[in-house]
Amino acid sequence: MADSAREGILQRDKETYAIVPKTPMGILNPEILEKVAAVAKKYNIPIVKITSAQRLALVGIKKDDVEKVWEDLGLEVGYPVGACLHYVQSCPGTAVCKLGQRDSLAMAQKLDDLLSNTALPAKTKVGVSGCPLNCGEGFVRDIGLFGKKDNGWTVIVGGNSGLNARIGNVLAENLSDEEAFDLIKSFAEYYNANAKSRERLYRFVPRIGIDEIKKALSI
Ligand code: SF4
Repeated sequence: MADSAREGILQRDKETYAIVPKTPMGILNPEILEKVAAVAKKYNIPIVKITSAQRLALVGIKKDDVEKVWEDLGLEVGYPVGACLHYVQSCPGTAVCKLGQRDSLAMAQKLDDLLSNTALPAKTKVGVSGCPLNCGEGFVRDIGLFGKKDNGWTVIVGGNSGLNARIGNVLAENLSDEEAFDLIKSFAEYYNANAKSRERLYRFVPRIGIDEIKKALSI
């Protein structure tokens, strides 16, 4: 998986490749920006795109340059393909947003660390928000969370924003940071054990039924 993602994605022109470095929650810093700018100039990369997943795509790289770009960047691969965690997007939450009620960035980083090292049967996208306004789009992600100051986290599963758009189902509410983390860990294990090959959560959740999933997870 790591190797194929590192090889890049062949583009429409059938000649050049796109790569996606890992930038969890879309957080950048001067060092990352300087590296991206340097490789874009050095290798004449025509497009640097901020994707809907809060990631950077470097597009239009010549095949022979792909590995050299990775070496110059020194960043992890962002896994834009395959059965694994693709990304955890997050709103800024209490770090900066005046409406924030929970620390969405901290929760998103913990979930990124967890799910990056968890076996998953299909592409999985996660959205975390620091208040019920849901700027992190968790209702239309495979797994979503949003926080409330006094009532903790709400966990949502089975949403999708693509061709098969679906609003996710609420799995549990009023969870502490630890309870939400532990539930998502258990849910991911349950999903991996019971899903068909490559079965996305927007198909898995309605097939099994949210009540059955709750029962299996003792909710
Ligand atoms: S979801 Fe709430 S906390 Fe997050 S950016 Fe939107 S308004 Fe702010």
